[in-house]
Parts: sequence; structure tokens; C-alpha cells
Amino acid sequence: MDSLVECPPSILSTTGVRIGGAGLPARIGRATHAMLAAFIRDGDYDLVHSCDAEQLEPDAREEASGLTVYGIDFWQREMQQYFQTPVVESSVDAKLNGKFTLSGTLDLTSYVSGNQAIFLDWKTGRLDSHYWHQMMTYAHLLWSFLERPEKFTVHGVVVFLRMKYHRTIVYTTQSIMEWEHDLLRNVLANPDRYSPGHMCRWCDLSVGCPARKEVIRSAMESILSGGEDSWLKKGRDVLANMTPENKGMEIVGKTVAEIIQRTHLLGSMLDEVRSMLREAVERVGPIPLHDDLGTHLVLEGQDRRKLDAVKAARVLRTKIDDRAILSCCNISLGKVVKEVISRVRTSERSAAHRALIEELDQEGALGVNTVNMLREKVVQNDEPGGSTGQVAADS
Ligand code: SF4
Repeated sequence: MDSLVECPPSILSTTGVRIGGAGLPARIGRATHAMLAAFIRDGDYDLVHSCDAEQLEPDAREEASGLTVYGIDFWQREMQQYFQTPVVESSVDAKLNGKFTLSGTLDLTSYVSGNQAIFLDWKTGRLDSHYWHQMMTYAHLLWSFLERPEKFTVHGVVVFLRMKYHRTIVYTTQSIMEWEHDLLRNVLANPDRYSPGHMCRWCDLSVGCPARKEVIRSAMESILSGGEDSWLKKGRDVLANMTPENKGMEIVGKTVAEIIQRTHLLGSMLDEVRSMLREAVERVGPIPLHDDLGTHLVLEGQDRRKLDAVKAARVLRTKIDDRAILSCCNISLGKVVKEVISRVRTSERSAAHRALIEELDQEGALGVNTVNMLREKVVQNDEPGGSTGQVAADS
């Protein structure tokens, strides 16, 4: 839905070439959704079956299992009481203006009474933004399903399983109608309004999209020309002269946003070229580059020796004590949790998970590695650096 609002042709175009492809995050998401739906519907879930259905490797299974355990814990602890008649994965359609059809599958819904409802959406991704329009769509679908009552209130709960927190938003007939009006007037009425940006990375049309190509072409031209009026030259000047005092100026923020947008697009183009090269070598084998040295483009495995801790334990214990052995091991918290909870009944797994984390915490065994990443996020006014409320890059 965010893609539709940001760049209508990315969804409405019938001429573009769509290239499908469900990446690993989508498969982990589907397995997690299937397990959560099974638990809420039947009181149990089948980890092996759900992960096999999405062909997940061991690390991805571990991820899906961890997300599911948190989801079940959250459901039992905080949500179950509000969903009197929970329905999982209900698909709903609604006509818009007689011309468009909105459709969606709600992870979890429950009708409270004739004019009240509640729904929940599990998020398995790493982003905690880009959910507003999707949630509005779900609220709209429920409202339409009840034949657009004049008085309607629906609570929408969006649960970020990776970040372990949730938000609840209240929608009413008025807010849903305002959103519908905006969608019809400003989005669906402009099917040719292209808007290249960060969405292009996930867009099915990106390979042939003329608007994206044009931005990449001008970004490349600007890099190559390096002229006084190039965006790169202007960007360098702005970054070099930025201070804590002037960083909130609109011109500064807009320049940084432009650099970010062009960098995303150039990055996605480079990723595309790299994967084309890789696929070509996978298909035909080493490719001679016809230089004086006889270089070939090859796919080369890099072997690193690794130690099987279980098999090595007997030998190591004859040399060093357990404490010294453990100090050499990098233990995965996710794998430990999985091992522990697999030894208890399904209905007790959430409590066992919580108890384990608490015990480890009390023992001082839990630590956090902080890696500073450049990210774009919405900053509230009372957060450090949030005085402008604009796109921010934190480091
Ligand atoms: S590639 Fe980008 S500009 Fe083109 S349709 Fe998709 S989102 Fe829009």
C-alpha cells in the first residue's frame, strides 16, 4: 500500500515488466505468520512443517522460531483478552468508487459488537515504518465489510516482532473516510505519477522503469561530469560545511535527502549488475577477460576451518577447563532459547523463554553489541536531534 501511495505506477502499471521473486525475509515472514495463525486457531503449531513449506535453512528457521515465540508470548500476555472471537487470516475485498478493488488478508480480527472491531498485524521485517497505509487499508476493509456504518471504531494493533514492541491505533468512520478521499483524489487519480526513491529497491518494475532509469542516468552523468552544478558537488559542499547550528535548515535536509535517494538508486543498480555477473558465471563457468595476465572471472569458494564444539569437547577438556572452553565459544542466544524451549510443552514455551531470559539477565550473561548504522527514521521532536522532525540520518 505504501508503494501505491508513494509511486502509483509501481502498482497500477499494466505495461511494466514485473519480475517476481520471494526473498528470504518474505519466506521467514510467511513461515512465522503460518505458525502464529496455527497457534491462535488450534493452540499448537508445527515448526518443521511451516519452515519446510518455505524451504528455510537452519539459521532462517531459528529466526522464524524466535519471532513466533515472541508473538505467542505477546498474544497470551497482552492481546488474547481483547479478541473475544479471534479469526485468523481472513481475506476481505472492498470496491472503491466502483472502479478499484481494495483487498487484503488480515492476520487477526475480532468483532466486538455491531460497530466496533479489533485487528492485529504481525510485522516480521526490520523496518518499523511504512505500515500506516496498510493499517488504514485493513481498517477500511473492516468498515466496508460492515457496509460502511456511520459510527464505527476499530482498534488496529501492529506488532513488530523483531523489535519486540507494538502500537495501537484507533480508527473511526471519519478518519477512514478522509483516508479514502485522499486515496481516490491524490493517488488513484494519478496513475502516471512516477516517484523514484527508496521504494524502487523493492519494486517489481524496477528493471525496466523509465523514471528510475532517468534518475540513475542523471546521477551517473553528474558523477562523471563533476561540474559545478552537479548534485554531487553541491552535496559535498553542504556536507563539508554542515554544523550543529545549520543542520536543521531546509536546504541542508533536502540536499542530504537527495544524496540518500540517488545513492539508493545507484546502489540498487550496482547490485543488479553484480547479480547479473554472478548468474552468468554460475551458468557458463569461468569467463576469460582477455587481458595480458589471462584473468578469468570465476566463482571461488573461500574455505575457513571451523570447529565442531560438541565433537571437540572431549579433546579440549584434557587441555583446558570448561570456563576457558566456553570463553572461546560464540554461543547463539537464539539457538540456546530454541534448545531450552524445545524441552517443554508448547503451551509453556513462552513462559520458559521469559524465565530463561530473566535468569540469564540476572546472571549478567546478556550483553548488547551496538553497531552504528546510517538509517532514515522519523524522529520525534523531543528526541535528541529531533527538533526539525525531518528525515534524519543517525550514526
Ligand atoms: S521503479 Fe521506482 S519509480 Fe519506477 S514504478 Fe517502481 S517505485 Fe515507481
